[in-house]
Amino acid sequence: MTDCIFCKIINGDFGTEFVYENEYAVVFNDINPKADTHLLVVPRFHVDSLNQLDDELLLGKLMMTVKDVAKKLGLNSYRTVINTGKDAGQEVFHLHIHILKGNIKL
Ligand code: 5GP
Ligand code: ZN
Repeated sequence: MTDCIFCKIINGDFGTEFVYENEYAVVFNDINPKADTHLLVVPRFHVDSLNQLDDELLLGKLMMTVKDVAKKLGLNSYRTVINTGKDAGQEVFHLHIHILKGNIKL
């Protein structure tokens, strides 16, 4: 999607550093961290939110990506959050999974 900020990040438009990436997703630091560690796991495929996702394989791959990046960074414990819809606090309408650890303010 051309007007989606996360699609632009995935496309490399802002030179955002990817902490981790695979065939399905990229992972980068949240620009406004709400914890000591605050990462975003973002599927390469644009889908507005969990409500529009009908690909269970992709959902599984995203959760495995969470696990893999946590392992890479040595995070044994962490919280995952998916905000779905405006009322739940979703600001960017490209599905993403937050990974949070330490002094979580979300
Ligand atoms: P949401 O509220 O939609 O679940 O989470 C969106 C997250 O994306 C927020 O935590 C916000 O700080 C982060 N964010 C928004 N724009 C950018 C950006 O341009 N770069 C990065 N790295 N994070 C962003
Ligand atoms: Zn997008």
